[in-house]
Amino acid sequence: MNLFKYILITFTALFAVTTQSDVTQRFYLKVEAKDSFQRTLIANTGAAIEGVDSDYVTVIANREELMLIRKLNFKTTLLETQYSLFNFPIKDDPYHNYHEVLSNLEQIALSNPHLVRLESIGKSVEGLDLWMLRITEDVESNIDTRASALFLGGHHAREHLSVEVPLQLANWLVDQYAQGNLRVKQLLSQREVHIIPMVNPDGLEYDIKTGSYQLWRKNRAPNANGTVGVDLNRNYSYQWGTGGASSNPSSETFKGPHPFSEPETTAIKNYIEKHSLIKILLSFHTFSELILYPWGHTDQPINDNTDYQTHVKMAQHMAKWNKYKATSASDLYIASGDLTDWSYGTHKIISFTFELDPKAGNFWGGASSGFYPGPSLIDPVFKKNLEPSLFLIEYADNPQRFLSVHE
Ligand SMILES: [Zn+2]
Repeated sequence: MNLFKYILITFTALFAVTTQSDVTQRFYLKVEAKDSFQRTLIANTGAAIEGVDSDYVTVIANREELMLIRKLNFKTTLLETQYSLFNFPIKDDPYHNYHEVLSNLEQIALSNPHLVRLESIGKSVEGLDLWMLRITEDVESNIDTRASALFLGGHHAREHLSVEVPLQLANWLVDQYAQGNLRVKQLLSQREVHIIPMVNPDGLEYDIKTGSYQLWRKNRAPNANGTVGVDLNRNYSYQWGTGGASSNPSSETFKGPHPFSEPETTAIKNYIEKHSLIKILLSFHTFSELILYPWGHTDQPINDNTDYQTHVKMAQHMAKWNKYKATSASDLYIASGDLTDWSYGTHKIISFTFELDPKAGNFWGGASSGFYPGPSLIDPVFKKNLEPSLFLIEYADNPQRFLSVHE
């Protein structure tokens, strides 16, 4: 196609979408079209042509445009229904945006009413619900009675793999239970698993909303100086602001105006404080392939030697499965106000942070991208972190007992 026609199509499509912004539901589809004449017909419906190949185009259309394209007798294949234009670049489509996470969680909860409960534990700055999935056998009668493990993902917006791993864990547990996996049945008859796959939905949606990544880390709180965002993993209260966190609101690691200034961290605090049977916790982040344990705010070890050894030995044990490096968080650099310093420091919950794959990489782009490594990593990274996750669930009754089992 010559450049002029291409520009014309692009312009027409963009114009059409912006004038119909009140229609929020979007369809992503493939339309057979062999030449610029056909492509122009499609573009003239108002649909946005996103990709052009020799015999088809990929298109984002609202319902009315989809109907018009079909009326013109084009052959269409629906690839996805979107609830808004906020989505991942097409190459990373297997990653879940907020609505996709929610519909996955709803589907799990609806089809497994005796095993799963879905609840909102609070709202983000921009009013999105923070979703928690709870999994235990006979959930109706046993909720809040069993030793519990808590898994969290997505504190940092651009760390999309950290959302996928706990989401896959939820799906895997429920599937395996349904298939009669004896180990899973036994675990879920004695433990409750709590999963918050997306702590920072506003930030995540902002990171993907244009279809190209924003490299966004923080939440979307408006700051006093006109900048946006607090680093949620610097906003917990334990030794808040004692190092490795910024008081400058434009900084990537802005700790917030005061501890728990953000609704996202406050929701997690309230939830943990309401559920005293949570004895073990794993917070997923990316990237670097590390298993981290407290402290983050000081390079001193945890005072209580039993708890210190529990963290060290469990971390080393899990590292045999995922081949990550086990070390104290402050061994990397001092950082204060993170979740795990607070959950251990305040509530003595044995707490880990996993920095998932890849081991190293630039920030984005190309095969070596750290934050945006592509969809091919989702399955292998979930699989190598499955045994560590099951191990933590198993020891949620009394993590310190691992020391006597292990020696
Ligand atoms: Zn992170």
